[in-house]
Formats: sequence, C-alpha cells, structure tokens
Amino acid sequence: DQQIRKQMRDAHRVVAELYHEVLMKTEAGDVGLTYLTNRGLHEETIAAYKIGYAPDQRRFTVDSLERRGFDLEVMVEAGLISKSRAGEYFDRFEGRVVFPIADRDGTIVGFSGRSIDERNPKYVNTSDTPLFNKSELLFGFPQARATMRKQKRVFLVEGNVDVLQVAQAGTKEVVASLGTAFSSGHARALARMVDEVIVCYDGDHAGQEATLKVVRLLETYPLDVQVLLLPEKTDPDDYIRTNGTEQWQRFVDSERLSVLDFMNRTLRRGKNLNREGERIRFIESMLEEISKSDNSIRRDLYVKKLADEFEIPVNTLLSRMPATGKKEQ
Ligand code: ATP
Ligand code: MN
Ligand code: MN
Ligand code: MN
Repeated sequence: DQQIRKQMRDAHRVVAELYHEVLMKTEAGDVGLTYLTNRGLHEETIAAYKIGYAPDQRRFTVDSLERRGFDLEVMVEAGLISKSRAGEYFDRFEGRVVFPIADRDGTIVGFSGRSIDERNPKYVNTSDTPLFNKSELLFGFPQARATMRKQKRVFLVEGNVDVLQVAQAGTKEVVASLGTAFSSGHARALARMVDEVIVCYDGDHAGQEATLKVVRLLETYPLDVQVLLLPEKTDPDDYIRTNGTEQWQRFVDSERLSVLDFMNRTLRRGKNLNREGERIRFIESMLEEISKSDNSIRRDLYVKKLADEFEIPVNTLLSRMPATGKKEQ
C-alpha cells in the first residue's frame, strides 16, 4: 500500500513534468500556450504553478507511463488515465490545459484540466483517489504558503485561473477550493496559518450563495473574515483583465466588506426598506443568517450592530432570533 502510494506520487511528478514541457517547449503544446497567453497569463506565472498541456492524443500519457515502467492499473486508480469497458487504457486530460494540484508539502496528487475548445465538460478534475481528497486540497496552497505565513492572511477564490491572475497581480497569498465544496477541513487548514481570510468568489448568484456557506465555516474559527463583493457576472480573473492590476489593488484595499455588511448587502437586494413590512422581513432574514453562526460571541456582536443600525433594543432582536442549537467553538 505504501509502495503503491509512492508509485502514484512518482507518476504524478513525472506526468506534471511532461505536461509542463509539452506546453512550454513543443509544437503540440502551442495551442495550450496560446490559450493561456490569450487569457493574460505570463510565462513566470505558468512556470510558478507548473501549468501544462496534455496533448490531444488518445494514449500520450498511457504510453509515457508504460514506457517508464509504471503499472497501468495503479495509474487508473491514481486517476491519471482511464480504462474503457473493453479494457483499453486511454488518456484522461487529452487536449486540455492542466493545473497540477499539490498537497500542503507541494507533492502533486492530482490535476484539474480545462478544455480549450468547445469540448465538454469545461473542467475535468481528478476524482477522489488514495492520494487525492478534494475536501482537503486547495489549489495554489504551496505557492501561497510563505506569503500566507508572513502576511497572516489569505484570499479565497473560486477558480484556478482566478488564483493565477490574483497571484500575477501581486497578491501571492491566494488559494481556491476545487470546484464545489469548501469544507470544514479547508477552514481548519487556513485557520492554522492565517488570522484573516478574504473571500472573493464570483459575483454571480451562485458565488454569493457559496460565500455565505464558506463564511459560516470560517467563522467557527477566531478568524477575521472579510468579503470582496465583485460586480455581477465577474470573477477575479475577469476583473483584473478588464480593469488592470492597479485598479484591482485599489478595489481590494477599499472595498472589503465585513461579514455582517456582506449579509446586509446580499439580503437587502430587491427590498425597499422604507416599507415597514419589507424592513421587518429583512431584519428577520438577517437574524436567521446570524443565528447560523457557530460562535456565540460573534452572534452577539452582530446582533448589537444590527440593533444599532435599526435602533431596535438588542433584547427585542435576541428574542426574535431563531434557536441556534449548534455546538460551540
Ligand atoms: P474559467 O474562467 O476557466 O471559465 P472559472 O474558474 O471562472 O473558469 P467557474 O464556472 O466560475 O469557472 O467555476 C469555478 C471552478 O469550479 C473552476 O475553476 C473549476 O475548478 C470548477 N468547475 C467549473 N466547472 C466545472 C465542471 N464542469 N466540472 C468540474 N469542476 C468545475
Ligand atoms: Mn463560478
Ligand atoms: Mn468563475
Ligand atoms: Mn473565470
């Protein structure tokens, strides 16, 4: 078992190296490099994150691994290649730009592959394997580590390309959870390294819903959590490419919202607070959101601020707060 895991790690290192070389040094990789360049990414950034390209060939990875003596069954288990029902091995990321995903120590354990043509799905990620546990991995962690430690803060974004753009814009302390779920394991890992987390998810509805969930997980720790609310239909990558690095830096420095202000802004949307009924419903939805916080001190702080804003006695609000009933941190 230990040996199999070692073989899987070795294979990931070899394959990442190969894909990176294909991207940087071969004609087969030109389409990948052009794609990344068109997205505004520089070679230093590509190198720092060891981005690669998996050639558009059915058995490039299979053959490369076989030639080096790797056991193809183990490679399938590691998620590096696939096997058809007929028992035929074939590539998994073919024709995609690949982002290696490393664990905390920088050991590559999986890939995220983005299609560069009309091919669906847009992203193919390694599924869970003995090495790869989505709920513990963060894209960009090894690259962000030193700056995270020093600055005691981290930016959390949705996508791999967002990580690359934000890092390229000079904010090296940036990571992304892989696709969907930011987990309590992620929150714990970040809380061990930093004092401050700035959540910077996509400006669409899905991004804001996800932000609320992420914030709740982060707030079980004594972290300073802030939210950077991007314009609708914009993610950090879009923002930086449209507005440039300097405006991004200004945006980051001036537009950060506290969690309470973020909830306030989100829940207020489409409501006319001059109308009493809507104001009451808004306050109730704020209380409901606050009640989901796992930390009682945090809850009290928020209720106090809400009371101040609407000039309502704290006790009135507390009496209307849904039961929390969650475990205390
Ligand atoms: P891009 O800018 O390359 O179009 P994105 O990062 O803006 O991609 P989103 O649609 O915002 O893409 O999704 C955020 C992240 O969710 C992606 O970076 C990827 O890790 C993951 N993701 C998106 N679509 C898929 C998919 N079809 N399958 C698996 N993961 C996905
Ligand atoms: Mn998104
Ligand atoms: Mn996005
Ligand atoms: Mn994007």
